[in-house]
Amino acid sequence: MTDRIYSTEAYERSMTATVVEVDRDDGRVLLDRSVFYPGGGGQPFDLGELVIGDDRLDVVRVTQDSRGVWHWLEGPLPPVGTAVNGVIDWERRYKLMRTHTAMHAMCGVVWNRFQSPVTGGNMNPGEGRLDFEIPEWNPEDREPIETELNRQLDLARRIEVSFLDRAEADQDPSLIRTKVSLLPPSLTEVRVIDIVGLDRQADGGTHVHSTAEVGSVRITKTESKGKGFRRIRFVLDE
Ligand SMILES: [Zn+2]
Repeated sequence: MTDRIYSTEAYERSMTATVVEVDRDDGRVLLDRSVFYPGGGGQPFDLGELVIGDDRLDVVRVTQDSRGVWHWLEGPLPPVGTAVNGVIDWERRYKLMRTHTAMHAMCGVVWNRFQSPVTGGNMNPGEGRLDFEIPEWNPEDREPIETELNRQLDLARRIEVSFLDRAEADQDPSLIRTKVSLLPPSLTEVRVIDIVGLDRQADGGTHVHSTAEVGSVRITKTESKGKGFRRIRFVLDE
């Protein structure tokens, strides 16, 4: 099982690790520890490199399964037991951390205004979209949501990561902000991301330490996705 460094140390951008398994058919290796986020919850997987001696191999895809985190490589695969140095594309990842944090802040703002659950979401570095069930939407709601979102980000709210027993998490339905719980039944421990005072939810992704790091956000579009459903698109204002 891979030690998932990104899960508690989102700001770690490199690691030393050892190859524990090689899958030649798919061109991927399993490592004993990793800073590479394997994707999930709308956040794309990290890109980067594995450095082995003088060789640098591009990590072109990252996935996870019950055995751990797989790194898909361009080039010849190192054998089991090889020591590697992994480095993620930090500029891209940090932008994803800011984008992901902005999405949670948006969830909090929309929840406070409408008590509306999220029905879906996705992000790329610097831009995201969230779908909400908002039966009483008015086009004039857009501006106050953007203003309130930026006010909340500006408060430099702390973001904390913690872990709860599954049984404990199941007793707190507010942790599941999505309309349908996406937590697999097999999960015994639930990771919780808390933007203290604004939004607290079960989540596997990487986030910044303070909402101030997100900077300001601009809503670029709101779309109707059927009766009562609203899609909100935003970008980080660079
Ligand atoms: Zn999230």
